[in-house]
Amino acid sequence: MPVNRVPVRNFVDGLFVDGPSSFDKVSPVDGVVVADVHLADSVLVDRAVQAARRALNGPWGATGVPERVALLRRVADGIEERFDDFVEAEVRDTGKPASLARQLDVGRAVVNFRQFADTVSSEGLDSFLTELPDGRRALNYAVRKPLGVLAVVVPWNLPLLLLTWKVAPALACGNAVVVKPSEETPSTATLLAEVMAAAGVPAGVYNVVHGYGASSAGEYLTTHPDIDGVTFTGESSTGSAIMRAVAPRVRPVSFELGGKNAAVVFADADLDATIQGLGRSVFTNTGQVCLCTERVYVERPVFEAVADGLTAFARGLVLGDPYEASTTTGPLISQAHRAKVSSYLDLAVEAGAEVLAGGGIPDLGADLNRGAWIEPTLWTGLDNTARVVREEVFGPVAALVPFESEDEAVRLANDSPYGLASAVWTTNLQRGHRVAQQMRVGMSWVNTWYLRDLRSPFGGVGLSGIGREGGRHSMAFYTEPTNVSVQL
Ligand code: NAD
Repeated sequence: MPVNRVPVRNFVDGLFVDGPSSFDKVSPVDGVVVADVHLADSVLVDRAVQAARRALNGPWGATGVPERVALLRRVADGIEERFDDFVEAEVRDTGKPASLARQLDVGRAVVNFRQFADTVSSEGLDSFLTELPDGRRALNYAVRKPLGVLAVVVPWNLPLLLLTWKVAPALACGNAVVVKPSEETPSTATLLAEVMAAAGVPAGVYNVVHGYGASSAGEYLTTHPDIDGVTFTGESSTGSAIMRAVAPRVRPVSFELGGKNAAVVFADADLDATIQGLGRSVFTNTGQVCLCTERVYVERPVFEAVADGLTAFARGLVLGDPYEASTTTGPLISQAHRAKVSSYLDLAVEAGAEVLAGGGIPDLGADLNRGAWIEPTLWTGLDNTARVVREEVFGPVAALVPFESEDEAVRLANDSPYGLASAVWTTNLQRGHRVAQQMRVGMSWVNTWYLRDLRSPFGGVGLSGIGREGGRHSMAFYTEPTNVSVQL
């Protein structure tokens, strides 16, 4: 494990800048301080927004699509060249297994830049030959312009993946960005600044400010009068605060928020494949993926078999050193988050849960016991009225609940204020389609989980967000079209 305490600076107008003060970033693996993060105050945030505005008003604002596409491809190549550095930085901040950081986080960052280079090169806008009843004719066509200076505020669970999911389309469309990574995971956004500069991204186009949310860099940025929009991933309550912050100036928002995702398992499902898929969907990244399943509804005849299989899966997970090849599962992101998840473990028991697996804090030896570890946990004996079945825990936990009929399964799965994702497990193809379409979510999988095509719409309903990103849906958010009507 690397234990050097590295400085993490802000990146403003093409330069790395210290903040007026700094804070310690602690490893969730063993509690050791791993980084010294420079806080951006309101003055520095303002400088970053002004730098982005100058870039937009300068040559960057006049770049054509081919030039931006080439730049995005150079950024993707640059991440690949420094792949191991990104993996190390992501592991240092999150404690996740290095194998996961390689495959999921850093691998996807490269793909994000290439995908949006492809999308922006191939997506057109509406054009109509207009023929009015009085005989007049016109050509109506829309041109796409950047939305402007964008605040990009992102969480800690998949730091580089979620950041680049927004920065790549934003730059593809010609915007300038000020990004505020999570205080828990400041490193990869900062490393990306080095790659951006080396790839030739002009000063001011990509800025990074560090700090916390409320009364700190996050709030300074989202309340800044000169931003043109906010793209945000994080908790639903934070999304609500950001909506209030931009409301007086009526700025557009794109929100990817929390989830309380359901899986529905029918008795005809391929149980071995289902249990592997369910296990992945509950426990990937220690349950800290917005798409993770926390509610598993199982048709009565196979309830015990699924409960046994998933329990064996949970008990087979290996918690430990992120660089050990056998490690499958890292810690939670912080002691504060562990305290929150632990409180839900207590609530579940108070509500009458039977604990099938986990349920507490593991003993991993003196060093790791200073980290933010928690046991992968499964419950039965709860229903949709229990708080742990209603509220997002964002940890390696799930409640298993039996159902009797397809209608009941749909009703139970949809009984949530969230609506991000769902998964249906069945070998009956018609039922798979039928149930998936009835889910009140943005994304519904059948016989798989987190299998993504980056051209498809991504987002949620209800408390899970506003808007869709992905492919042309991202183009729609990151641009303002101007329609031109030419009489013929
Ligand atoms: P969070 O909302 O606490 O923080 C996210 C970011 O917002 C951080 O950078 C934080 O500093 C900043 N922030 C906090 N308060 C702010 C404020 N008042 N003004 C401006 N910025 C503020 O979320 P988190 O704990 O970092 O991440 C976990 C949450 O993110 C979970 O709810 C999870 O479901 C959600 N999430 C959603 C998706 C999705 O695509 N829907 C993906 C990943 C995570």
